[in-house]
Amino acid sequence: MNSKIEIMAIGSELLTPHFQDTNSLYLTERMNDLGMEISYKTIVGDDWDELVLCIQQTISRANLIFAIGGLGPTRDDITREAFASVLQKKLIFHEELLRKIEERFKRRKLSMPPVNKKQSYIIEGSEVLENKNGTAPGLWFDTGEKKIILLPGPPHELKPMFEASVWPRLKSLKKGHSIRRVLKITGLTESKIENLISDLYPEDPHLRITTLAYPGQIEIHITGQSEDSRVQAEERVQKSEKNIIERLEENVFSTSGKELEEVVGELLELNRKTLATAESCTGGLLGHRITNVPGSSNYFMLSAVVYSNEAKIILLDVSRELLEKHGAVSPQIAQAMAEGVRRKSQSSYGLSITGIAGPTGGTSEKPVGLVYIALAWNEESEVSKNLFLGNRETIKFQSSQKALDMIRRHLLKSKKRKEV
Ligand code: ATP
Ligand code: MG
Repeated sequence: MNSKIEIMAIGSELLTPHFQDTNSLYLTERMNDLGMEISYKTIVGDDWDELVLCIQQTISRANLIFAIGGLGPTRDDITREAFASVLQKKLIFHEELLRKIEERFKRRKLSMPPVNKKQSYIIEGSEVLENKNGTAPGLWFDTGEKKIILLPGPPHELKPMFEASVWPRLKSLKKGHSIRRVLKITGLTESKIENLISDLYPEDPHLRITTLAYPGQIEIHITGQSEDSRVQAEERVQKSEKNIIERLEENVFSTSGKELEEVVGELLELNRKTLATAESCTGGLLGHRITNVPGSSNYFMLSAVVYSNEAKIILLDVSRELLEKHGAVSPQIAQAMAEGVRRKSQSSYGLSITGIAGPTGGTSEKPVGLVYIALAWNEESEVSKNLFLGNRETIKFQSSQKALDMIRRHLLKSKKRKEV
């Protein structure tokens, strides 16, 4: 199936600043997992004329179409009717659907409002996709040349329906095999990565490499295809992955989808080490990320958010003199915080962050984005000086990312030391 695939997100609320079309991101990700790309996305309101025009245009361009939303019982839900009109098909009453919708209400000890009857009409020739989590049924309409899939708007209805009824069909229709691997990288800029691997971009049309840059993290997506076998697609990906990792070395922290905090957690567990954190400008973000990982209680001891100087003194025994001499944003204080939290918690490692997240508070000597991060272990420590760019939120994220990366690299090195 060599398809032009489009997604239509239908609903006037999606054209306001208050609601986001997250469903199409989900569908895009799942289609990419199948090795298929989306060629076009539209968001259109609940206006009949606009919607009909949009459907006509979409059908003229694409041969696999997802339409999301507007399958509900209310007057503004017109997706079914608009598609039937464009496709010149009748809407046909489906007895069994009505029964199912009525049963759904009965189970909740409610009687079905008359407006819901509308949902038991389906486009002539279409198949019903069962909705286990709501009343709006999905529809699968196949003209032979084009496939049109209508899905309900609420994400907790769309996702299970897609997984149960749509994904298996698309998978079986797909010819050939495709494998995708995501390499996650930190500690290198996008341009540095480009320099290191640009000659590895494949000429082979069965292999595609794309780079995505986020603050503090770069991802390289490798997709391998094969008409013949999954093994061949896998081999193509593996070869390319190996070449890229040889160049980028330990800057690649994950090839399995794992986030940095998960990788750090695994390394701590593997080495039977524990960690405590002391955060100033990140306000607990580092601790939050570490504790997002199930099982983190095995290695995470303490998280201290020490925003004020007094808190640093009282909770971590940072010396007042040191604070007065160097200021809170300094390598000396970062080190004292990491050592303090390690001592207090009796952890193997103390990790600290102190910096200026902005937008105010910067000086020419200590600008916004200046962040010191320290790691303490045994009687040793290391401090890094960073100048992050971006707004308050991205500076906070990059700080937490760098802190996690410092301990990751340290644990990798100590593993190597042991192996030697
Ligand atoms: P319902 O029976 O709940 O009315 P529906 O198929 O008619 O289902 P809509 O009325 O279009 O769905 O949307 C219901 C809710 O689903 C919206 O208020 C919105 O919160 C969410 N929703 C709709 N479309 C999307 C989308 N593309 N991405 C994320 N959420 C969406
Ligand atoms: Mg609705």
